[in-house]
Amino acid sequence: MTVAANLAEIRDRIAAAERAAGRPAGSATLVAVSKTFPADDVRAAIAAGQRVFGENRVQEAEGKFPALKAETAGLELHLIGPLQSNKAREAVALFDVIHTVDRDKIAAALAAEMTRQGRAPKLLVQVNTGEEPQKAGIPPAEAVDFVARCRDVHGLAIAGLMCIPPVDENPALHFALLDELAGRAGVAWRSMGMSGDFETAIAHGATHVRVGSAVFGVRPRPAAEQPS
Ligand SMILES: *Cc1c(COP(=O)(O)O)cnc(C)c1O
Repeated sequence: MTVAANLAEIRDRIAAAERAAGRPAGSATLVAVSKTFPADDVRAAIAAGQRVFGENRVQEAEGKFPALKAETAGLELHLIGPLQSNKAREAVALFDVIHTVDRDKIAAALAAEMTRQGRAPKLLVQVNTGEEPQKAGIPPAEAVDFVARCRDVHGLAIAGLMCIPPVDENPALHFALLDELAGRAGVAWRSMGMSGDFETAIAHGATHVRVGSAVFGVRPRPAAEQPS
């Protein structure tokens, strides 16, 4: 299968999931996750009409996307991996959406850089819905307060919430929890769902699904949890 054929199939499945959930067409955005894949694979997706991409490491994205953004107007780049505060400068300069705000130190670093650079990427708070010790994200019990603190203490508008469910659990429970927390926090976006479960996520209100291997193929090496 080519990237173009994969994309066509994923778009059809997203449209079907939107219809099944009684949601408007286009209400779930496909973020094509290109981590570990070379720029030419991204070019193939761009040729097939894809404009929204996700990367999980700042450094890898810096190696690929400045050239791609220069070639094609209107690309939208999402950071979906953990962010260290010492990379806030590069992240604010390159990314249009950052999904992984999860502590005050990062919120403060992003706020300072956004002011300094005059750039305002959209921000999501990552929630560790499975409360896994090795995983990034704010605990669910603290998520609503943290969104308020981002706004009131750090002056940051938060667009939504993001989660990565534990691999060995029913993702629907985690998607439902994220949807509920987003409602309580008063934020619109829900970034949830990957290659194996994006239709379930759309049924639970996902506004952004992050799909990698179903678009680009099997990754050469695992990269999901490496820090930026
Ligand atoms: C890699 C990654 C994805 C995409 O995973 P696939 O199973 O390949 O679709 C989604 N979200 C995050 C945070 C990732 O790191």
